[in-house]
Amino acid sequence: MASLPEPLPDWLSGLNPPQLAAATALDGPVLVLAGAGTGKTRALTARLAQILATRRAWPSEILSVTFTNKAAAEMRHRLAAMIGPSATEGRGPSFVEAMPWLGTFHSIAAKMLRRHAELVGLRSNYTILDTDDVLRLLKRIIVDAGLDEKRWPSRQLSGLIDRWKNRGQTPDKVPAGESFAFADGRGAELYGRYQAELKTLNAADFGDLLLHMLVIFEQHRDVLADWQRRFKQVLVDEYQDTNAAQYRWLQLLAAPSEGGQGNICCVGDDDQSIYSWRGAEIANILRFERDFPGARTIRLEQNYRSTPHILAAASGVIAHNKGRLGKQLWTELAQGERVQIISIWDGPEEARLVGERIERLLAEGADATDIAILVRASYQTREFEDRFIAIGLPYRIIGGFRFYERAEIRDALAYLRIVAQPDDALAFERIVNTPKRGLGDKSIGKVQAHARRTGTTLPGAAQALVETDELPAAARRALGDLLAAIRRWRSQMDALDQAALAQMILEESGYIAMLEADRSAEAAGRLDNLAELVRAMEGFTDLQAFLEHVALVMENDRGDHADKVVLMTLHAAKGLEFNHVFLPGWEEGLFPSQRALDEGGANSLEEERRLAYVGITRARRRATILHAANRRVYGQWTSAIPSRFIAEIPAAHSDSETTLAGGASLWRAALAERDPFAHLDRSSGRGPGWDRAARAAPKGPRLIEARASAVTVGGAARTDLAIGARVFHSKFGAGTVQGQDGNKLEIAFDHAGVKMVLDSFVQPA
Ligand code: ATP
Ligand code: MG
Repeated sequence: MASLPEPLPDWLSGLNPPQLAAATALDGPVLVLAGAGTGKTRALTARLAQILATRRAWPSEILSVTFTNKAAAEMRHRLAAMIGPSATEGRGPSFVEAMPWLGTFHSIAAKMLRRHAELVGLRSNYTILDTDDVLRLLKRIIVDAGLDEKRWPSRQLSGLIDRWKNRGQTPDKVPAGESFAFADGRGAELYGRYQAELKTLNAADFGDLLLHMLVIFEQHRDVLADWQRRFKQVLVDEYQDTNAAQYRWLQLLAAPSEGGQGNICCVGDDDQSIYSWRGAEIANILRFERDFPGARTIRLEQNYRSTPHILAAASGVIAHNKGRLGKQLWTELAQGERVQIISIWDGPEEARLVGERIERLLAEGADATDIAILVRASYQTREFEDRFIAIGLPYRIIGGFRFYERAEIRDALAYLRIVAQPDDALAFERIVNTPKRGLGDKSIGKVQAHARRTGTTLPGAAQALVETDELPAAARRALGDLLAAIRRWRSQMDALDQAALAQMILEESGYIAMLEADRSAEAAGRLDNLAELVRAMEGFTDLQAFLEHVALVMENDRGDHADKVVLMTLHAAKGLEFNHVFLPGWEEGLFPSQRALDEGGANSLEEERRLAYVGITRARRRATILHAANRRVYGQWTSAIPSRFIAEIPAAHSDSETTLAGGASLWRAALAERDPFAHLDRSSGRGPGWDRAARAAPKGPRLIEARASAVTVGGAARTDLAIGARVFHSKFGAGTVQGQDGNKLEIAFDHAGVKMVLDSFVQPA
């Protein structure tokens, strides 16, 4: 290590010795391999500061990859705070903001591709398609190939193409056997058609961003050499979740064997690899030392984030995985609270209870932004959203396109896309008759047929047809007007800023008038959304930049983050931390997910466990895990058993409580005979608050509903114990059946009160 100045500059002070090494070993490859919360991201940020401050590279000569756009913004922010004006010759924060190659793999590759698009047959204003567009396009290709889309769904093909792209495989490189995964061996052929079609549309999907760059690098070594010369330093966060294409891209840019400069620092944690379903390969960690000879591996063991109880709980769970490198973590923080494990009756009660707990935390002075609810499946947020809206608790959802996914927003974006990019056939298709302008399916079909016949794009074919009399007069006029309007809007692109342009388009296209005429309940909200869209556009340099942002942005961050509780998936929570973390839905089939269980392999279960580890380690002060006894899945009530991950949390580091009323905890005791995890019900200490919650939960109607759907887990419902039947239970004596939920009965015992019991424990009296 080069000798460091004493005292250490701000951005290095406070780092522990291995962190300091990671931040200052600027020559040659470095791999930081360490557990959650050990300051990997912090060390990486310090390294960036060190590079800039020691003038090892200019901002434009540093490639830094983060996992989300949000993380990139965060890193910029931290960096600006770390290095003051003195380190940047008075340039201060703007110096940091100028870092053009700090972002996600996708956003960086998209930007590079704009410069070289023509090398793969695209133009620099190519469109990035979203999933919806991709599926529509694939469907057309499947049908055109004479296949039955029902038998060979576009979604399946899209998944395959994704997989190939994640591995860096162009259609000619698809392994012969894998082509058979679709349409009796036509997979690669359809993939090839799709790529050709994208080219004529001047469009790319997400996977293409990297794939095209790989092709360009491999085929145009001069282009690669330029980039290799440029990037003096390469930094990668969340390295454990890189896929093969991303790994190859890094290798080409930085490995000395390929001509790169070799100054690369990757930080990651094998226990947090949670994206194998998107092609991530943990093996990239092991490969690093081979492909980057002389790599220095640094391990960090001190955790600065979580209390010992939280850390021990997470470590206890992850220790059940076999395929891991293994590591020790320690912390100097005070013991703090044990991890709370709460049993509740069902989903709505879970949401109610979490809402209550959050309100209590807020009343105690907690900051809303320091509270997160992390779910396994994105649909789980709905129950919380409903509840939070009901009690007026401000929340926001991170991850996913929610806002940009709404129909009216997608329509507006389609208008903007066709203006920005005249050949964007998918956008054209979307808006050609929205609002309705008298263009029937027949007319549109004619335009499509013409496009196919003449090999032109859809807008091009439309233009050609308005000059003939193939279309009925009214349709021709409508189409002609639309095309003229698009040309007019396009001519305004330079004169107007993009927000003003959008406003004009929405008005002149009749889109706003259409919504104003709409008397439905949603129309007003849609108009608000459009106004919000125009507002959102204001901050961008131009329309192109905005459209790129929409295509790339994975987070629904609309600026107003203050004082809102965060709801997000565990997958999206990577790298983040919160004082208080709620982890609902820890039930077999939900978490670990049913898919992981069905696949049955150790790998998918281990990935779920890593997800549990990621979840627990997001918490700084308090982690609360919840599991419900009943869960409505696909409209049917199902009895759930606690996640096996709950059983893996060491007892010394967790506390259990239940809000299940009366007999419910005894129901759990009864279940213990079958349920290997029931020992978790170590303490049933119900605080005063819980009685209220329990009373508030109306149980009767649910049971009736449950009976109607008669869903059972672990046993069929008995038919000999109808409601009203007199029964005898070996422990509670005689009683009357009041309700039935699968193989569980709600029984009013003559002397023991109302309880839930398993039907196998009772006899008809
Ligand atoms: P993850 O694996 O979850 O991505 P990480 O290893 O990247 O975690 P960071 O997010 O960098 O960890 O750090 C976790 C917390 O510890 C942050 O709040 C960070 O500011 C703090 N931290 C890191 N290093 C130090 C240090 N040397 N001294 C004090 N606090 C630190
Ligand atoms: Mg991190």
